[in-house]
Amino acid sequence: MSNVDPSEIRKFEALAHRWWDPEGDFRPLHDINPARLAWIASKVTLAGARAVDVGCGGGILAEAMAHAGAVVTGLDMAESPLAVARLHALESRTEVEYLESTAEALAADRPGIYDVVTCLEMLEHVPDIASTIRACADLARPGGALFFSTINRNPKAWALAVVGAEYVLGLLPKGTHDYARFIKPHELAAAVRAAGLEVVEIRGMRYNPFSRNTKICDDVDVNYVLHALKPADG
Ligand code: SAH
Repeated sequence: MSNVDPSEIRKFEALAHRWWDPEGDFRPLHDINPARLAWIASKVTLAGARAVDVGCGGGILAEAMAHAGAVVTGLDMAESPLAVARLHALESRTEVEYLESTAEALAADRPGIYDVVTCLEMLEHVPDIASTIRACADLARPGGALFFSTINRNPKAWALAVVGAEYVLGLLPKGTHDYARFIKPHELAAAVRAAGLEVVEIRGMRYNPFSRNTKICDDVDVNYVLHALKPADG
């Protein structure tokens, strides 16, 4: 059985054509991208790195990493977002390899080769996060860096990320996020360690939908990011 929830994939299939509209359904991803990219670039040298972006969608982060000089593979299980990603890369003259694959399948094909593995805003859509995280660990080379981001599970996260973003502000389509799938930082950290990785840093990511400003910060109550390392001898 593959680690994919078809109803989650359908949500992204339906919205794919809107992916690169900075004022559209994926506006928050556009707004947060510079801050998360800068945070990643503060941890690793992207120029010349081999990077894989797990759950790349329309390729907002994948393209940005390619612009920073990385050799990027983006993988996703939704066909239409990948088609949009390929088209956008052509238009923006960016080279990114896009594959319809799970992290698990690519890890079986290409184990241990990536300097950088990113898996952002994706874990809250998969049935078995431990399996995805293990696959990310397998994709990384020994000494490679991994970056995860997701949404915390508590009343404040529910109020802001579900009620606020989907129902009050209409920033995201209703039903984008399923609260039960949100992940507490200690749960993510435990899964990362169980995959043989070292947790380097957990930071909050604060997005202000009015100013559209995003900051990497200390408050992990809602959105947060995790940097991990694969041990060099691992
Ligand atoms: N990581 C991107 C997109 C986040 S949206 C960004 O942050 O900009 C979540 C993406 O995860 C969607 O494109 C969805 O199709 C993908 N996804 C969900 N489950 C998946 C799975 N099991 N394997 C691969 N991709 C998956």
